[in-house]
Amino acid sequence: MVIGGGPAGMMAAGRAGERGAKVILIEKNDTFGKKLLVTGGGRCNLTNYEPDVRKFTEKFGETGKFLFSAFSQWGVRETLGFFHRRDLETKVEEEGRVFPISNRADSVLEVLTDYLKEGNVTILSGIPVKEISVSRNKIEAVHLENGRKIYGRSFILATGGRALPETGSTGDGFTWLEKLSHTITPSDPSLVPIAIKDEWVKEMQGVSLPGVKMTIIQNGVKHLNRKGTILFTHFGISGPTIINMSKVVGGLLKNGEVVISMDIFPSLGHGELNAQLQTLLKKQSNRKIKNVLRAILPVAALEPIVFHLSGVDPEKFCNNIKREERMALINAFKNVPMSVEGLLGPEKAIVTSGGLSPLEVDFKTMRSRIFPNLYLVGDILDIDRPSGGYSLQLCWTTGYVAGNSAVEKEK
Ligand SMILES: Cc1cc2nc3c(=O)[nH]c(=O)nc-3n(C[C@H](O)[C@H](O)[C@H](O)COP(=O)(O)OP(=O)(O)OC[C@H]3O[C@@H](n4cnc5c(N)ncnc54)[C@H](O)[C@@H]3O)c2cc1C
Repeated sequence: MVIGGGPAGMMAAGRAGERGAKVILIEKNDTFGKKLLVTGGGRCNLTNYEPDVRKFTEKFGETGKFLFSAFSQWGVRETLGFFHRRDLETKVEEEGRVFPISNRADSVLEVLTDYLKEGNVTILSGIPVKEISVSRNKIEAVHLENGRKIYGRSFILATGGRALPETGSTGDGFTWLEKLSHTITPSDPSLVPIAIKDEWVKEMQGVSLPGVKMTIIQNGVKHLNRKGTILFTHFGISGPTIINMSKVVGGLLKNGEVVISMDIFPSLGHGELNAQLQTLLKKQSNRKIKNVLRAILPVAALEPIVFHLSGVDPEKFCNNIKREERMALINAFKNVPMSVEGLLGPEKAIVTSGGLSPLEVDFKTMRSRIFPNLYLVGDILDIDRPSGGYSLQLCWTTGYVAGNSAVEKEK
């Protein structure tokens, strides 16, 4: 019995069916994979191209150490083989992100739906599971909201985390697991855009700046920096690099104010920028600085903020700009501070942190260390990961291993 028809549950049910088990997959929505369809902006970044298991699992930070045994059974190579054999062609984009050539998440969902059919999986959709019951230290049955009770031998829990709850992931699995005395760490949005207080940031909405460096600062102490693209939105900042920094920001916010400083020219030092600025000011000496700074800045939208931060009067003529003013402009290029208002809530998160403690799962089989016939897969697990296809790969791997081991155990 598999509860939850997201990517992890579908993979688990399909694999158990492929091995000849009699499988029931229960999903509370009328359709499967509602969240899968919005992944990667509707294009589905289904994995990250890193066939080396050790290197791949290192991306999961501290919790990566739990994953080696599962990924050695079914990793990126096996996942790509699975999709390619089923005629889903893929391409590798920036930072190893793998997408279907079709650029459509529904082509990934189609492969999984066919996999369920091939394995003769019985589908119960539009029916929420209300509860799970236990008898003699084993899971005995699921209780559906319509009053039906279904008994089973093995149970795979794939109800997801709490990110984007309108897709069905409302944390039901956490409530059941807590009742069953499993340890659940509270959920926080962990891969999520960041709201910024400064009004100028909102005025830049729609602007995307590649190749900038962002540094997270609290009380003057630098905590983390990353180079990448920043995307300005109506609430603050987003984009893969920002989203990957959000967990650290969220942690620091618990202790007080956080500032993200942007360096517009991370690969140029003060000396190089000074030389560029001097050449520009000399060449355009009879023009006002507000009409020439654009030649240096990557986007015009940055001009007002650079003038504001540096205190340089935009109406001044280039031949009147003094050395201190040049230095002030350079300092503004290298440190554009943004005050963090907060992280966006779980409804905007890609992943929520927290979930079932990995210490309570045997990753060779994905089996609970408390209940011998309960398997746990996908977002329900408290495993850190960056954006870039790692979340879905975690679903494919844990789903496959659980589907496989549940059948193995029954033999
Ligand atoms: C906007 C967005 C974009 C993303 N993009 C990417 C990406 O490009 N690449 C990537 O790797 N990851 C991405 N992710 C993360 C990825 O979508 C998740 O990691 C993944 O969907 C988790 O799969 P899952 O099967 O564990 O859970 P879910 O996909 O959350 O599925 C759980 C299922 O269980 C069902 N369910 C819950 N409770 C019950 C119940 N009581 N009874 C019956 N059914 C129930 C739900 O309805 C749901 O269908 C993205 C996430 C978001 C929100």
